[in-house]
Amino acid sequence: RAPERYLKCELTPFADEKLLIIYDVTRLHHLEEMRRDFVANVSHELRTPLTVMMGYLENFSDQPDMPPHWKRGFELMTQQTARMNRIVNDLLLLSRIEIEETHELHYIDMTKLLTHIYDDAQAYNQEYGHSIHLQIDTYDGLYGSEMYLTSALSNLVINAIKYTPKGGDITVSWTKTAEGCRFAVEDNGIGIAPQHIARLTERFYRIDKGRSRATGGTGLGLAIVKHVLYQHEANLQIESVEGGGSTFSAVFPPNYVRSAAIS
Ligand code: ADP
Repeated sequence: RAPERYLKCELTPFADEKLLIIYDVTRLHHLEEMRRDFVANVSHELRTPLTVMMGYLENFSDQPDMPPHWKRGFELMTQQTARMNRIVNDLLLLSRIEIEETHELHYIDMTKLLTHIYDDAQAYNQEYGHSIHLQIDTYDGLYGSEMYLTSALSNLVINAIKYTPKGGDITVSWTKTAEGCRFAVEDNGIGIAPQHIARLTERFYRIDKGRSRATGGTGLGLAIVKHVLYQHEANLQIESVEGGGSTFSAVFPPNYVRSAAIS
């Protein structure tokens, strides 16, 4: 059997005609596959040692007669291993989403899913004290991957909480539009300068690394969001005014929308 080849086609105007350009991207495809597998393997291998370290650190930190300077050291090690664990888990999730070309689709009751995300967000919101509004304008649900969508959409809500100064206003909405159903999170937070917007979904791209770390971020959240939405044929839209707030939204096309009546 001939080895598989990957081709990319592009149609461009050429004088009065159209020119079809065919690129052979087989090598690029293989390199991309190697990168994906490497990241997935490294993350997987790091999981067990990390779990062991976290377990021992937890036991040691509880010792009552530990000298104070040791205690501080143990606290820092516990925080940093927890951070490493979050990064490894996010990397694993991202590789899994990238590798799975097809995934099982199920009916998702969006009212239930968004209420669940809203309740979790309220717990996280305690130290910020924002007013969070949940606005559900349609009973329509989605045909999709519930676990991945919960992770992606709640990521957007948690980001709105993290990147809005205390006492802000956040609205999470689910509405029917002419193009499908739209999910949106609007905040009146710190906003994003235009030059950063196009790069936000790159892995580890953060505008302010210190702020992201301080709030427990891994820098992988929006990369995960982009991939999960892509699996559902939805694109992440980012509108923002620096210092004035941001709206992260996505429209799910009709073939992924399911009315509750026919679920
Ligand atoms: P992180 O773990 O750093 O939050 P993300 O991938 O979720 O990683 O987001 C990437 C960067 O995008 C963040 O570090 C932050 O600079 C910016 N960002 C994301 N959401 C918002 C928001 N709602 N308002 C302002 N900036 C945001």
